[in-house]
Amino acid sequence: MSQHWQCSVLQAGKLKLDGGSMFGVVPRPLWSKMTTPDDRNRIELQTNCLLLESEDRRVLVETGCGDKWSDKQRDIYGIERRTVLDALKEQNVDPESINAVIVTHLHFDHGGGLTRFDGEGVPIRTFTEASVHVQCQEWEDALAGKSTMNGTYLRSHLDPIHSCVQLTDGECEVFPGISVLPVPGHTWGQQAVLVETLTGIVCFPGDLMPTRHHVGAPYSMGYDMMPFQNMQTKRRLLDRAADESWILVLDHEPDTPVVTVHRTGEWFELEPVRNFQGV
Ligand SMILES: [Zn+2]
Repeated sequence: MSQHWQCSVLQAGKLKLDGGSMFGVVPRPLWSKMTTPDDRNRIELQTNCLLLESEDRRVLVETGCGDKWSDKQRDIYGIERRTVLDALKEQNVDPESINAVIVTHLHFDHGGGLTRFDGEGVPIRTFTEASVHVQCQEWEDALAGKSTMNGTYLRSHLDPIHSCVQLTDGECEVFPGISVLPVPGHTWGQQAVLVETLTGIVCFPGDLMPTRHHVGAPYSMGYDMMPFQNMQTKRRLLDRAADESWILVLDHEPDTPVVTVHRTGEWFELEPVRNFQGV
């Protein structure tokens, strides 16, 4: 008998990234109609996370950027002074009550919140009682710094969590009712998270499709290690999402992160689920 989870969306803080990098091969005249860049060509993004609760467990999906950032880095990436801890506090959730954290991948805006500075400026684990679940491939690539981006797999984010990492390998159930699914493209080892709730499957696809504007086939990111594979993986995931009436929660969507998927002939469109209070 599988377990049904209560699921709520948390906002772990905004950031801004270059619009051109966020939309890869899509020309600016197209993407700038969908989202307006600022005077430094950056677009506003959110770092959405999921809080999953059952009778005896609390699981967090993603952790956002955290707060180990210099003023200069905050300025470059427009990192808001808000973290997943602020979001948990608003829900009256003690970080020590989190039993497990699942991350889609370990880029700075996903794994940064796994650690924080102690009083002496030493990075320590944020969730002291939690295991951290990440694909084996992603963990190895992160430790090896295997990315076209400098400074996205930071050792200050990785070393403190070493002892509590539990590696997933391919599609598997992490807890009854919560499973992970490899979604390669953005990184080799990225995983989506699937959650059984009373109203059906909630899927968190990570940077496979970061905002609602990335649903189109060629809308992969310049940050993707394998843009073509990302497109193929996205088609497979959207196919299943449409067939099985999944609810998707988009990780960087600032306005309407909760969507459903519908077919439009050759491809798919997203329908926002407004006023999502959790399921
Ligand atoms: Zn990201």
